[in-house]
Amino acid sequence: MEELKQRILKEGRVLPGDILKVDSFLNHQIDTALMNRIGQRFHELFGNDKITRILTIEASGIAAAYATAQQFDNCPLVFAKKGTAANMSADVYHATAYSYTRSGEMEIYVSHQYLSPADRILIIDDFLANGQALSALSEIVRQAGAHLVGCGVVVEKAYQPGGEMLRRQGIRVESLAKIAAMDPENGIRFE
Ligand code: 5GP
Repeated sequence: MEELKQRILKEGRVLPGDILKVDSFLNHQIDTALMNRIGQRFHELFGNDKITRILTIEASGIAAAYATAQQFDNCPLVFAKKGTAANMSADVYHATAYSYTRSGEMEIYVSHQYLSPADRILIIDDFLANGQALSALSEIVRQAGAHLVGCGVVVEKAYQPGGEMLRRQGIRVESLAKIAAMDPENGIRFE
């Protein structure tokens, strides 16, 4: 998505530790018009796939997932919550992911009530790096017995292994901007 790439080039900041900061429009302050166009783009990609529910993870996936759900006839949007095993009841699906930005394990969970075997799920997230977040979400879809149609990612850091790992498992992954390389000195290069 050319508009998104230009915005990343203009406002993105590459931080040490391989983090791209896009706080000015994607995951702190949100450019809602851009986000709506991101939702439209995901609809172009997955619009024929009879999606019944969008699944994401709190907090930074929610905006893109919301914009996307609106394009799919306002289908329900479910976000996995982050928490610890201690506060989980028996009626939840849960999975563990290693958090890239927080450097630690996190448990994520979704109530049984909000996913069913009849669902055709599109997972949406803001970033794909090592694939931990999307793997954990796909594990939750598996536990629910629902059908995973694919994953829509706003920014994929394609030089990190997550995208390849998921695609090797046969999961359809569509990214709107694929970063081939980035570093604080030389900036960002797209695929
Ligand atoms: P993964 O699980 O694929 O390693 O990382 C995905 C999650 O980590 C995303 O949900 C996102 O919140 C966060 N993340 C990974 N890399 C970056 C990055 O470069 N910038 C930002 N802002 N978040 C990232």
